[in-house]
Amino acid sequence: MPLRLYSSLSRDQREFQTVRPGEVRMYVCGVTPYDVTHLGHAFSYVQFDTLRRYLLSLGYRVHYVQNVTDIDDDMIMVSRRQGGRAIAEIRDENDAIFRADLDRLNVLRPTAYPRATDHIADIVETTAALIRAGHAYEVGGDVFFETTTFPRYGALNGVTPAELAARENPESKREHKKRGPLDFLLWQTTAADEPSWPSPWGPGRPGWSIECTAMSVAHLGKQIDIHGGGRDLVFPHHENEIAQAECATGLVPFCRFWLHNGMLRLEGVKMSKSLGNLVLACELMRTVPPDHLRLYLLSTHYRVDADYTAEALPTVASRFDRLRLAVTGASGGRASERLDAAFRARMDDDLDTPGALDLLDMAATRVLAGTAEAGEQKSLRTALATLGFGFAGARGPANGSFEP
Ligand SMILES: [Zn+2]
Repeated sequence: MPLRLYSSLSRDQREFQTVRPGEVRMYVCGVTPYDVTHLGHAFSYVQFDTLRRYLLSLGYRVHYVQNVTDIDDDMIMVSRRQGGRAIAEIRDENDAIFRADLDRLNVLRPTAYPRATDHIADIVETTAALIRAGHAYEVGGDVFFETTTFPRYGALNGVTPAELAARENPESKREHKKRGPLDFLLWQTTAADEPSWPSPWGPGRPGWSIECTAMSVAHLGKQIDIHGGGRDLVFPHHENEIAQAECATGLVPFCRFWLHNGMLRLEGVKMSKSLGNLVLACELMRTVPPDHLRLYLLSTHYRVDADYTAEALPTVASRFDRLRLAVTGASGGRASERLDAAFRARMDDDLDTPGALDLLDMAATRVLAGTAEAGEQKSLRTALATLGFGFAGARGPANGSFEP
């Protein structure tokens, strides 16, 4: 069976096929580095790292791009709160913590890690192209995308524009200037204390969603295979990205597979900065080994909204110890075709990591009891390496750019 992935756009599992044979172009929305990494981020990036590792194990070359949103409302808000501290300084401080957290979780580094502020020229060019093509308009230095010019607007969310318009929308700035309620900013005028760049519409800064479209096209080309991110980005961010990219390039689809991870909750409530219920990855890893945390995160399917419970962590420790013990001393020789195929079957089913881990637990039990068939220990080790565990020989984070 080939790999099948669930795409939010088609709303079903489809056989994975790439634009170019043997190559995967994958873009995952990065963080806005105005604060440190919480467990929800760790969940998302460990899951997409595992997908990337699985694709590598299938023999694909994987181009994995993850952006840094270093200019937006949140960055400006934090800079103001800190007495006008330079945004670049806030970015670098939080980004260093974020990257260190992901390194410890053995997340491979992206093949490209672009910053929005390094792509202002691409953003201005894309915005100008959208105006020329009749998909965007300028009002007093602000440029809006006109969503009614894109008939598929709403397709990713599977609802009509009228239903979308009724939703809460972080893009609802400058309502009085817009032609339609769902129109969103591609370029915006700035206040005196905000960073700004020159443009054909006067000094300003980019809108939010245009940043990702410009960086995706700049680094991966006009059509990509996988776009990943948290489910909270489906509207409006990813809906906007499709509209911008397909109208600017004229190519459909912009992306073949839209993958969205579930939201991690704390006692039933989504973890978020605004609710003040964050569990920080760096704090948790003071007491929990990063490999244990990785195992804990992969015990949940990436699309599931899961509850984080501290009580589950001791169970993870014993599960981890058994798996590690079972592959200790694994040597060369042949693998178990049966175990390899069973592991692939779970992973091919929309990356069923919980199912794959259950299977590996059973194999570990057989290895430890001395009842395993030939090659099972080797296959177990290979599978655990594919899931990104350093003790099983998984490639380390700094080797992210390595391609087979
Ligand atoms: Zn994005």
